[in-house]
Amino acid sequence: MPGIAPKASIAGMIAPKPAPAVAPTGRVARLHLNEGALGPSPKAVAAMREAAGRMHEYPGVDASGLAATLGRRHGIDPQRIVLGCGSDELIQVLCLAFLEPGDEAIHTQYGFVQFPVATRIAGGVPVSAPDDGYTASVDAILAKVTPRTRLVFLANPNNPTGTHLPAAEVRRLRERLPGHVLLVVDAAYAEYVTRPDYTAGIELVESTPDTVMLRTFSKAFGMAGLRLGWAYCPQPVADILYSVRPPYGVNTPSLAAGVAAVEDQAFQDATVAHNERWLPWLQDRFRELGLEPMPTAANFMMLRFPAGPTRDAVAARRFLGGRGVLVREMAGYGAPEFIRLSVGSEDDNHLLVEAVRDFLNGANQ
Ligand code: PMP
Repeated sequence: MPGIAPKASIAGMIAPKPAPAVAPTGRVARLHLNEGALGPSPKAVAAMREAAGRMHEYPGVDASGLAATLGRRHGIDPQRIVLGCGSDELIQVLCLAFLEPGDEAIHTQYGFVQFPVATRIAGGVPVSAPDDGYTASVDAILAKVTPRTRLVFLANPNNPTGTHLPAAEVRRLRERLPGHVLLVVDAAYAEYVTRPDYTAGIELVESTPDTVMLRTFSKAFGMAGLRLGWAYCPQPVADILYSVRPPYGVNTPSLAAGVAAVEDQAFQDATVAHNERWLPWLQDRFRELGLEPMPTAANFMMLRFPAGPTRDAVAARRFLGGRGVLVREMAGYGAPEFIRLSVGSEDDNHLLVEAVRDFLNGANQ
């Protein structure tokens, strides 16, 4: 009897379901997933509680008016906003909607890991474009375009590197890409970026027929547990995504929390101010300890450790975990000499720096 097998495009990525993680005891600093450092907006929590009483009702397409609220906030057309269960879902929906089997989707060398995963799930072929150092290269992306290319994914700023492309480079990419290629600019960390050369991509979506911008509530809004993201699209692309995404993919309490979060400007200002203060503080402390933090425009950074059997990045991640400081190892991204860590609360950041100092000083735990 023939065995059950997945389709060929995903065969190479099947892994056993992870065993439930043992919850660490004591104080834990969650610096491994680029979550918001300040938790959620209390106004978003209150709105979610209030909406919980309506959980027996299916959500409408946008019953809470979240698209309208985002439209007002950004000065964009709410009809062209597609909401999703996290931007992860929207990445999958894009791949399902636009990739025929064997079609190619380009991502960058150190680009966000879900781009090739979603490509494979849809039956497509992921194509990696080499980075220039640890920054996306427009020329390398363009060199990978073939008649089978349908999508180009660019996370800007990128996860896990934290590096960004200036708006002029993203525009150059769009201008040189052929018309059969949809450019997806994933601006998950846009709220954190204070560089004058950066834009999230709204103007590119407005001025071209073939660019999509993705955003999420998981990072600066501190709502990763809710799973809420959105895409801003040309109208025909919005219609396609709406037709493909699950009908009730975003739940009622999330929609309500999203509206309250977007309207809580004071919380957003505090989030950016916190990052502006603590990101350079962490980078300075790491440099003092002789380590090499990578430049970043987001709320996280890659930190390089020297090679060696006992004090390398892999050992550092283990040691920090033992101290209740969770950070991300980078071996899966092909950069095993780094860990990636996010800016946490003030206490988290102190805990992190003390643990790194002890690790470098040779402490056993
Ligand atoms: N894009 C990038 C670049 C990310 O870093 C992440 C989160 N890791 C996502 C998308 C997915 O975010 P969400 O929680 O909205 O699915």
